[in-house]
Amino acid sequence: MRERSRGHGGSDRQGAGRHGGGRPYGRGASGGRPYGDGGRGHGGGREGAPRRASGLRRGLAEELRGLEGAQYGRYKGLVGRWELPGGTVLELVRAQSDPYAPPARVALHVPAGQAGFPEDLWSTATRRRALASYLARQAAGAVRGERALRVDAGGQEVLARSSCSVDAADGGVTLRLGAALPGRGRRIDAREAERLLCQVLPRTAERALRHGASDAEEVRRFIETVEDSVALREALPGLGLVGFVADGAVLPRRSGVDDRPATGSGIVRFESPEELRVEVELPHAGRVSGMGVPEGVNLVVGGGFHGKSTLLRALESGIWDHVPGDGRELVVSRSETVKLRAEDGRHVERVDVHAFVDHLPDGSDTTDFSTENASGSTSQAASLCEAVEAGARVLLIDEDTAATNLMIRDARMQTLVAKDREPLTPLVDTIRSLHRDHGVSSVLVMGGSGDYLEVADRVVMLDAYRPSDVTARAHEIAAVPTGRRAEAEAFPGVVARVPDPASLDAEVRGRPRIRARGEDVLSFGDHEVDLRAVEQIADPRQVTGIGLALELMVRRGHLDGRRTLAEALDLLDEELAEDATAALLTVRDEDFAAPRRFETAAAVNRVRGLRMLRR
Ligand code: ADP
Ligand code: MG
Repeated sequence: MRERSRGHGGSDRQGAGRHGGGRPYGRGASGGRPYGDGGRGHGGGREGAPRRASGLRRGLAEELRGLEGAQYGRYKGLVGRWELPGGTVLELVRAQSDPYAPPARVALHVPAGQAGFPEDLWSTATRRRALASYLARQAAGAVRGERALRVDAGGQEVLARSSCSVDAADGGVTLRLGAALPGRGRRIDAREAERLLCQVLPRTAERALRHGASDAEEVRRFIETVEDSVALREALPGLGLVGFVADGAVLPRRSGVDDRPATGSGIVRFESPEELRVEVELPHAGRVSGMGVPEGVNLVVGGGFHGKSTLLRALESGIWDHVPGDGRELVVSRSETVKLRAEDGRHVERVDVHAFVDHLPDGSDTTDFSTENASGSTSQAASLCEAVEAGARVLLIDEDTAATNLMIRDARMQTLVAKDREPLTPLVDTIRSLHRDHGVSSVLVMGGSGDYLEVADRVVMLDAYRPSDVTARAHEIAAVPTGRRAEAEAFPGVVARVPDPASLDAEVRGRPRIRARGEDVLSFGDHEVDLRAVEQIADPRQVTGIGLALELMVRRGHLDGRRTLAEALDLLDEELAEDATAALLTVRDEDFAAPRRFETAAAVNRVRGLRMLRR
C-alpha cells in the first residue's frame, strides 16, 4: 500500500474523515494509483513492444494490429500499462479469457498536468470524492452508445466508488471501467479493439476528464453541495441532533423504483415546525434553516398516506450525500444511523435477545439465541441488538415494516394474555432506556399506537405532508392512564460476539468468488447472503463493496477468531478511512462503492453457516 502514505500529510485534514468510526466514505475517493510505479502490469507482456524502465509500454495500436484474427486469449499479453499519444496511460488490468466472460478491466490514468483541475477542487478527501463522482458521471455520458464500455457512475448518492478517483498527491484522475474486448467468435477483432482503446478512451479522457473541457461552474456546484452536506452532518452532534431536514427540501421520490425527486404541482416542499427549527451556518450555502431531529426518542405520527414513511426514508438516506438537484442535498442524519425492520426467515447466530424475547415455548436460551428461521419479532429484535453491537447511535423504525408484537402490547392484551405466557417484551418499554442508558436515539414512525406517546421526547405530526410539533398535546393525552403496565425496567445492553473467520470463506474451488446480484444478494464464496432487509444500501455496487470489505477483514486478519465483530469493524474503518477505494481495490479491481461498517456488519450477520464465538 505504498501509495496510501502519499500526500496525506495534512492537506485533507478536513472533510469526511475527521471523525473516526462509521464514516460512510472514510476519507473519500482518492486512490489515483501513480502510474508507472511498476506495481502492476508485469503479468502480461511477453510480446514485443518496447517497455521502458517505468514499466510503461508504447505502441498499443501497432501491437493490436499484429493481433488481428489471433486467438482471443492473446489479449492477455496486453495486460499492463500503455502510454497513449497525448500522455494518458491506458492500463489493461485484467483481460477476459473469452468473449463471453465478464468484461475486461481497464483503467485510464489522466496525469495531473493533463487533467488540470485546480487544487481547491481536490484538496480534501470530500472534494476528491465529489470531483470523482462528477467525473464518473461525465465519463459515463461520454461513452454512452458504446456497448462494449461501461462506466459505473452511480445514482443520487455521491459515494466513494472504484469507477473514478482523484489522486490526493497531485489531482491526477483515474477512470476504471469494464470493457468487453471485441472478438469475432474466438478470434481477436483488432480493428474494433483499436477503435475502443486507442480512440474512444483517449477521447473520453480528453472530453470528460479534463478541467478545460468541463463546465467549471457545474463542477464547483457539485463539490460545494457535497461539502455542505458533509459539514451539516458533522455539525449534528454539537447541536444535540441526530438529523436535519432543510426547509424547502423535496422528500418524495418519483416512484418506488425511481429514486429521482418527484415532480409536479402536488409536491409539498418540507417546512419545519417552528418549535423544531434550527439554523446552521454552512461553508457554501451560508445560513440554512430546517427541522432539527433531536437526540432522544422521536415519534412521527399522522394519518395514512400523509408522508410519514417518506420523511423516514429521507433520514435513512441522510447518511449519504446527494447530487445537486436531488431535493435531499440538505437532509442529513448521523452516520451511525441504522434502519431496522422485521425480516422473518432470516438466520440469527448467537445473539442475546433476552431484552425482547424470553421464555420461548421450546425453552431455548434467549441470552444466546440462534435460529435458521426467525419470526418477524425475533428477527427485528436480533437486528436491533446487532446494530447496537456494531455501534449504531440512532435507530429508525417504520411501523409499515416493523413487527407489531415487538413494538407494542397494549393494556387489554396484557389483561388477556398473562406476562408469563408472552415471550415478547415490546420495544415501547426499553426505548427510553436505550437512549438514557446507552446513548441510542430513535426515530419511530408510529401512526397506529398511542402507547408510544408516553415514552416519546418529541412527537411530530404530518398532515398532508406538513409537519407540526404536537409534543405538548401528546404528553397531555399520555398523562391519562390506560392501565398499561411497563414490562421492563431497562435495556440491558448487548453481548459482544466473535466471528469465526473460518466460517467466512470467500473461496470456491481455490478462487475467491464475490459477486452482487442487484441490491439484494451478495454471493460470497458458497454463501448467498440475503440483503433485502438492509435498506440503507444505496446501490448495487455497494453490495460488491460489502463483499470486498468482508474479504479484506478476513485477509488482513481483522477477523482472527479473537476480536469481536465491533473491534474488527473498527480496524476495517481505520483501513478504509484514508482511502476506501484504494483499500478495497487491493482485494479486487471491480466496479464497487464503499459501504459503511453497518452494512458490512449486516452482511456478516446474514451469512448462513457463520459461526460466532462469545466473549
Ligand atoms: P405514510 O407513510 O404516511 O402512509 P407515505 O410517506 O408513504 O405516507 O406517502 C404517501 C404518498 O405521498 C407517497 O406516494 C409519497 O410519494 C407521497 N408524498 C410523500 N411526501 C410528499 C410530499 N411532501 N409532497 C407530495 N407527495 C408526497
Ligand atoms: Mg408509511
